[in-house]
Amino acid sequence: MPFHVHESLAVPDLPAASRRNDHVAPLILTELNPLQVVDSIAVDAQPLELMTFGTVREVCPKCQRGGLKLVLRQSSVRIAHLFCADCTSCFDAQYPDGAPALTI
Ligand SMILES: [Zn+2]
Repeated sequence: MPFHVHESLAVPDLPAASRRNDHVAPLILTELNPLQVVDSIAVDAQPLELMTFGTVREVCPKCQRGGLKLVLRQSSVRIAHLFCADCTSCFDAQYPDGAPALTI
């Protein structure tokens, strides 16, 4: 059986989201209420430790700074979201066609 090797070999292994092949389209960001996103923000007065999963290229719609962090679901996080450390806002991200961009 012939094995066709396309130039896709040169493409690095990308996360599942890019398999849609439209990862160059800008995401639509919608601000989320942090209280709906994160559990028990100040219950025990401990700083909330968020595990982030890298930085996305989107710019914060509120403070116009880059470097939004991807935060996936974890013990104290109910909804995967993008987090802006500059204005401590949380955003949902969708593709222009309305498909969620942050679900795995
Ligand atoms: Zn911001």
